[in-house]
Amino acid sequence: MSLMFNGIGVSRGIGIAPARTLQRELGEIRETPIERNQVSGEIRRFQRAIKTATRELTAVEKNIPESATSDIRAFIETHLLMLADEAFVNRPKDIIKEQLVNAEWAVHTHRESIIEVFEAMEDPYLATRKNDVNHVVDSVLRALQKGNALRNALEESDWNGVIVVADDLTPADTVQMQTQGVAGFITETGGHLSHTAILARSLGIPAIVGVHEARRYILDGEELLIDGSNGLVSAAPDEKSLADYRKRQREQRRAAKALETLRDAPAKARSGEKIGLYANIEIDDDVKALKRANAVGVGLYRTEFLYMNRDDIPTEEEHYRNYTRILRALRGAPLTIRTVDLGADKEASSMQGPLAHNPALGLRGIRRSLKEPALFVPQLRAILRAATKGSVNILLPMLTSLDEVRQTRALIAQTRDALIAEGYKIGEDYRIGGMIEVPAAAIAADQFAAELDFLSIGTNDLIQYTLAIDRIDDHVNYLYDPLHPAVLMLVKASIDAGNKRGIPVSLCGEMAGEPRFIRLLLGLGLRDFSMPVNSLLAAKQVILKSRLKDLRPKALAFVRTTDANKRNELLDAMNHDLDLPH
Ligand code: PEP
Ligand code: MG
Repeated sequence: MSLMFNGIGVSRGIGIAPARTLQRELGEIRETPIERNQVSGEIRRFQRAIKTATRELTAVEKNIPESATSDIRAFIETHLLMLADEAFVNRPKDIIKEQLVNAEWAVHTHRESIIEVFEAMEDPYLATRKNDVNHVVDSVLRALQKGNALRNALEESDWNGVIVVADDLTPADTVQMQTQGVAGFITETGGHLSHTAILARSLGIPAIVGVHEARRYILDGEELLIDGSNGLVSAAPDEKSLADYRKRQREQRRAAKALETLRDAPAKARSGEKIGLYANIEIDDDVKALKRANAVGVGLYRTEFLYMNRDDIPTEEEHYRNYTRILRALRGAPLTIRTVDLGADKEASSMQGPLAHNPALGLRGIRRSLKEPALFVPQLRAILRAATKGSVNILLPMLTSLDEVRQTRALIAQTRDALIAEGYKIGEDYRIGGMIEVPAAAIAADQFAAELDFLSIGTNDLIQYTLAIDRIDDHVNYLYDPLHPAVLMLVKASIDAGNKRGIPVSLCGEMAGEPRFIRLLLGLGLRDFSMPVNSLLAAKQVILKSRLKDLRPKALAFVRTTDANKRNELLDAMNHDLDLPH
C-alpha cells in the first residue's frame, strides 16, 4: 500500500528511486583489536573525546537560565564530576592497554562493569543513577564516533540512483553524495534556506526537507516518488501515480531543453538594458557548468566548502591552486570569492568554533575570520596571489559594522605588504565588497557603500535576521517570506545605496533565482543577479521579456502594499505574460 507524506520542497525535480535510509545515531560499538604501537594513539583519541564531552557539557551548564530549578544544574554537575573522576577516566585507558582494543570498546566494557554494580544495589534511588552513567558514557562514545559514523557510512555505501532518507544532512554530506549520483533526498529536519537545500538546488537534486519521522515509516529499499516542487513524498506509489509522474518528469526535461536555446542570447531586457547574470558556486568543479548557461562570471563562491570533509584546514597553497584553477576556467570573467563564512549551519569538522547557544548570532563569517588570523590570513594571501591570474572580487560575509570593513581592509593591506616583502607577485585587479545580510548593514547601506567597491545582498540571511526565523528550523519555516515588506524595504535601501554611490549591487541569495521575483527586483533597481547555474536560463527568459520602465512603479506599489492577498495579485499581474513553473 502506498503511503503519502508532505514536507517542504526545497529543490525542484521529480525523483523516482529506491529509498536508502541513513541512521546516524550512535553506531554499533564493535570490538576492534589494535597493535601495541597503536595504544598511545587510541588513548589520545579517548582523552580528546573526554575533553569534547566535557566542553559540550560545560557549554550546556553555562546556558542554564538563572530561573531553572537547582536540580537541573546538579544533574549536569554530577555528569561533569564523573567526566573528571580519575577512576572513571583511567579504567578505559587500562583496558585499551591491557586488552589491546579500540577506545570505543574500552569505554563500552567499562560501562558494563559499572552498570552491573548499580544493578546489584538494593536502593532504588541509587539504582536509577545508572542512567547518569549511561548518559555520560554515551556522550563520550558520541564524541569518539563524531563524524566517523556518517563519514564511514557515506564512504562505504553506493549512493548512485537512490533517494537518501536521513534525519538531517550537513552540506559536507551532500557534497559527498553528489559525487555518487544520488537521485534525491528527504530529511526529517531543515528549511528552505539550509545550506543543504541550497546545495541540492545548485546540484539539481530533487529534495524535500522537514518530513517528520520519515525514517520511521519509509522502509529501506522500497520505491519512493518525490516531487521537489511541492514537497510530496509517496512511498510504494501505485502504477497510476508512477505513470503520471514519469510523464511530468519527461515534460520538465523537455522544458529544460527548450531553455537551452537561450544560452547564447545576451541577457538584455526587452527595453534594452543589460543585466548581469552571474553564477553561485560551492565547489571549484561547479565552474564547468557555467558554460551551460553562459554566465558572465561567478557572483558568489562559497569557500566554506573547501574546509569540509577533511580533518585539517586548507593551506595557503591549496587555496591558491583552487582559485587559480577556477580563474583559468573563467578566462578573464570575474570570480567573486567570498571569504570563509564558517559558523552556524556551515561548520567544518576541522574548524569547530566555540559552542554557542545561538550559533546564527554567534561567531560566524567575518567575525570569526577576524578573530582567527590562522584561518583568515592564508586565504587572503592566496586570493591576492591568485589575483595575478584574473579578475577577482573579494566578498566579506556577515558584515555588521563598518569597523569590520576597516579592520579587514587593513589586514588585506598588511597581507599585501608582507607578500611583496617576501617577493611574491600580487594581482592588482581586485575589488573589496561586502555582503548585505544583516539588517544593520542594510539599514546603514549608504555608509557601507561609501567604503566598499561593491555590494552583494544575501537575502537568505537577511530574511533570517529580519524576520527572526532560524533558516534551518523547519518549525518556523512557514514564516519564511522574501516578500515581507520589511525585507523588501531593506533590499531596496541596499540597491538604492549602491546605485547612488555608483558601485555595483548584486543579489546572491536564493531569491535571485526565483523567476517569480525577478521583475520585482528589476523594478527595485537591481541590475546584477547571482544564482545557481541551474536557474540562470529561466531567469534570462524572464529578463528578455521585461520592460524595465514599466516595472519601477509596480515594484514601488508592491513594497507599499500591506495586504498579503493584494500583494500576491500585484505579483501575478507583474508576471501575467510569463509561463512560470509552480
Ligand atoms: C545569503 O545569506 O543570502 C547568502 C548568499 O549566503 P549564504 O546562503 O551562504 O549564507
Ligand atoms: Mg549568508
